Amino acid sequence: MELEVIIGLEIHAQISSKTKMFCGCDNDSFGKDPNVNICPICTGMPGQLPVVNEEAVHKGVKASLALNCNIPEFCKFDRKNYFYPDSPKGFQISQFDEPLAEKGFVDIEVNGYTKKIGITRLHLEDDAGKLTHVRDGSLVDFNRAGTPLMEIVSDPDMRSAAEAAAYAREVQKILRYVGSSDADMEKGMMRFDASVSMRPVGDDKLYPRAEIKNLNSFRSLEAAIEYEIKKQTELWEKGEALRSPVTVGWDDSSNKTFFMREKEESDDYRYFPEPDIPTLHIGREMVDQYRSEVPEMPVVKRHRYVNELGLSEDDARIISEDPKLAVYFEEVVEKTDDAKRAVSFINTILMAKLNEDILGINNQKVTADLMAELVNLVKSGEISNNTAKGEVFDEMYATGKSPKVIVEEKGLKQVSDAGAIEAVCKSVVDGNPGPVADVKGGNEKAIGFLVGQVMKEMKGQGNPSLINETLRKLIS
Ligand SMILES: [Zn+2]
Repeated sequence: MELEVIIGLEIHAQISSKTKMFCGCDNDSFGKDPNVNICPICTGMPGQLPVVNEEAVHKGVKASLALNCNIPEFCKFDRKNYFYPDSPKGFQISQFDEPLAEKGFVDIEVNGYTKKIGITRLHLEDDAGKLTHVRDGSLVDFNRAGTPLMEIVSDPDMRSAAEAAAYAREVQKILRYVGSSDADMEKGMMRFDASVSMRPVGDDKLYPRAEIKNLNSFRSLEAAIEYEIKKQTELWEKGEALRSPVTVGWDDSSNKTFFMREKEESDDYRYFPEPDIPTLHIGREMVDQYRSEVPEMPVVKRHRYVNELGLSEDDARIISEDPKLAVYFEEVVEKTDDAKRAVSFINTILMAKLNEDILGINNQKVTADLMAELVNLVKSGEISNNTAKGEVFDEMYATGKSPKVIVEEKGLKQVSDAGAIEAVCKSVVDGNPGPVADVKGGNEKAIGFLVGQVMKEMKGQGNPSLINETLRKLIS
């Protein structure tokens, strides 16, 4: 029997708002002591009233528009009831039958083909706290309780672990682009639940699925789906396919999924409308305003870089991946009108340094202005490419000095004086009869050797294209 796999993804992404979803506590608890960012609201004390965070709603709307969703005019919050020690209220405030947004899509590219993945809905909710299990019991930290989340539910449109990973990466990029979430997986700002089921090819119904909970890296997302596909394929082949949905966990150390519980359905949560929060009216003017502010999406940007600026696919991909890098690159291009040189400086030397230092593009000293100045010095022939990428750039990166000043101070100006170059070329031609004969005989490598000799004489400051030209003229 030939089987196909059906995958749907739920993505939980932390909204990058200043405060929590329903109270004024700081939303950034990274690296802080436990239970310092809390108040009576987010710890579920009796008699407290939640107030919806406007910024979180705005960022949710922006993300929804970037994911091509419809935004209904009204949405409401509901209580999702379950007991767990990290959830102080005894319920989560989420959205059930009237979510913030629905019916969107994302285009993904996998192994050279493009595919549209549907988005069922995007809703807002608050996060739980965190439990740490120690030898004598469990410790609870409520700093994260009440953090605003977007839950983005896909249609069951993916057919392989690679497609699921490509979709998750694309959503991460989009959320960062619109500034709705930093989606930093290392800090737990983005987590996945993956639903996996199988069916015979040609069958169009959906069979019971396994939902793999709380995957927190792209690597474990792919590995867990691959594992589940293998396991379910074996069950199908033995005639023992899943009869009811299950919830499973993923163990990163053994690379296996493990059974947690029968999958809970919405009935189990006894959803009911949150009585403390009025229905939310999402004004059409605000939606139109945000629609006009949604920036160019990474995939569109990438195509533009290739088609209009002549970048290679790889270069365009690297630059368009990170919105801050894209802004930087476009600023350099605007000031130099030289996309190819700009990308070759940014993607090679600058990125190498940034990767070494783990600095973000906005936390280092070579501003777009300085980078443009450097590119322009090369473009006008004032310094050679090698000098720019070596000595000058290193000094700029360390000190943030202007490249013009560095060139002046270190005397690195390229010699483009035809007379001076011709004099050196003549002496090199006279002193190397062998290679000169080789050039005459059509050996292209030999000219490189001669250029090298002239460069050496001129301490690396001769203009290489002028040297090349002069040597050829002298030899012929
Ligand atoms: Zn609070």
